[in-house]
Amino acid sequence: PGGLTIRNVSKRYANGVQALHNVSLDIPPGMYGLLGPNGAGKSTLMRTLATLQEPDAGHIFLGDLDVVNQKEAVRQTLGYLPQEFGVYPKASAEELLDYFAVLKGITNRAVRRATTEALLRQTNLWDKRKQKLGGFSGGMKQRFGVAVALLGNPRLLIVDEPTAGLDPAERVRFLNLLSELGENSVVILSTHIVEDVSELCTNMAIINQGHILLEAEPQQAVASL
Ligand code: ADP
Ligand code: ADP
Repeated sequence: PGGLTIRNVSKRYANGVQALHNVSLDIPPGMYGLLGPNGAGKSTLMRTLATLQEPDAGHIFLGDLDVVNQKEAVRQTLGYLPQEFGVYPKASAEELLDYFAVLKGITNRAVRRATTEALLRQTNLWDKRKQKLGGFSGGMKQRFGVAVALLGNPRLLIVDEPTAGLDPAERVRFLNLLSELGENSVVILSTHIVEDVSELCTNMAIINQGHILLEAEPQQAVASL
């Protein structure tokens, strides 16, 4: 019921690049991997799902919400972790998370304090909450990005190439964090790293040059590569 349905989505940029060709996917709640090489169309699809750009054609539904035509409603239940989480180096983790919580519409201070504390603990940043983000490592920034993306308990969480800049230890911590996220929401992880998908996801698709090549369970898909 709360899954994501993508039907015949196409996108061509002004420079003539056809980034998505007639993409259709059925994405159930849980962790879903979108695997493909650089330039495959992953970010284009992720930005489209995140209501940051519109497809030229096609339909996208989150449950019964129309992602293309009900952007405001979708944004209230959406978490988006972009490739590079742009941070405000002079703010502390605690301050900035509180600020994003206000933007998410969590206006009650006590609720906000409880919400941000829970997220800082979940992302293992509670001990670092007073530190300025400018001093955070890549992995800490990514985990902070997860805390921001999880504000308001999104039904749809979009994570675009999250492990690209992480060292191996940070990568493992980050993937463990993602694997703890609820089974009730749709979590889409885009990556060019096979192991990100095979270690974490229950379902996956492979995309190349804007075409979906394969939808499968990771074991089957990886075996066929
Ligand atoms: P990725 O790491 O997902 O391949 P890119 O490096 O291709 O991302 O893109 C980074 C940013 O530059 C994105 O915001 C994307 O929209 C933009 N971009 C990528 N390719 C082009 C292009 N050919 N023309 C204009 N903008 C582009
Ligand atoms: P991926 O995330 O898989 O690397 P992208 O969605 O970033 O793929 O890019 C898919 C294709 O679209 C690439 O050829 C890229 O150069 C092109 N592209 C991406 N963003 C833009 C943009 N804003 N303008 C023009 N071309 C773009």
